[in-house]
Amino acid sequence: MSRDKLSYSFEFSAPRDDEAIAKVKKVHARLGELSPHFYSVTYGAGGSTKDGTKQTVIDLNNLGTPVAAHISFGTDGPDLIRGLLHEYKEAGVTRLVALRGDIPSGVSGKGLPHANELVEFIRHETGDHFHIDVAAYPEFHPETRHVDDEIRYFKMKVDAGANSAITQYFYNADAYFRFMDRCNAAGVDVPVFPGIMPITNYDGIVRFSKICGAEIPQWIEKTLRNYKEDPASLKAFGDDVVTQMCERLIDGGAPGLHFYTLNQSAPTLRIWNKLGL
Ligand code: FAD
Repeated sequence: MSRDKLSYSFEFSAPRDDEAIAKVKKVHARLGELSPHFYSVTYGAGGSTKDGTKQTVIDLNNLGTPVAAHISFGTDGPDLIRGLLHEYKEAGVTRLVALRGDIPSGVSGKGLPHANELVEFIRHETGDHFHIDVAAYPEFHPETRHVDDEIRYFKMKVDAGANSAITQYFYNADAYFRFMDRCNAAGVDVPVFPGIMPITNYDGIVRFSKICGAEIPQWIEKTLRNYKEDPASLKAFGDDVVTQMCERLIDGGAPGLHFYTLNQSAPTLRIWNKLGL
């Protein structure tokens, strides 16, 4: 398929205050020049970003291009989530990213409802109103105990009514292709959009990758470490590595790309331009 026909989307982190809201709006305007298919805004289940998510989703969605609200039960009960779903529906929001989320640190309690239960709940409450994305993990979710569970549970989310999926970020295209082979073998045929994390700083990417279970191949990690005090070289190397991986993903049949912008336009724009999109 021609590159121009693929789906491109940009994710924002839920803003916590007015300054952050203004920043997201600025980045949204800048990335809007690329005519993405949709944007999405993360949701801090149980935390302070819930209102920031809702207001940002509704405000940006009113500007035209669809904005997906990330949503999870977290530690909330069905009444609160039901209310939120109906607020989104009434405000004209048509897309959701349905997640289990994680228990916030310092909060104890039993496990959270899994994403397949949330997808079921959304379909029960609002029928086919929303296009629902779910998360996928080509390098496995950190809690996954057996490789076969990853596809089994992913299939449960799709069977519950998810339309498509966005992956956790990775820096090894083979993990994505292998994951897609396993989806095909299991009869899971929804589009799975690779999540793309630009590399802009060494400490941040190493720390976050450890938490979410994304592997940084050794040759990339060592090169980034060498460029730790040389931001220009780090940026150039990071852009090259991520762009080449995007090329491979597109050439290998990925249906599009979902960029984790971390509320910055420049890294995504650089990769976009290098890809010649
Ligand atoms: P699930 O699909 O429920 O899976 C979690 C784990 O449980 C996996 O190991 C899975 O194999 C297993 N599992 C799944 N279903 C079952 C079942 N029915 N029974 C037993 N085990 C099961 N976090 C946020 O807090 N806010 C966000 O906005 C956010 N956005 C994200 C966007 C994307 C694209 C991705 C990839 C992740 C995002 N996350 C976000 C992180 C996510 O919340 C965490 O990775 C979380 O730990 C798992 O959420 P999930 O929806 O993948 O969970």
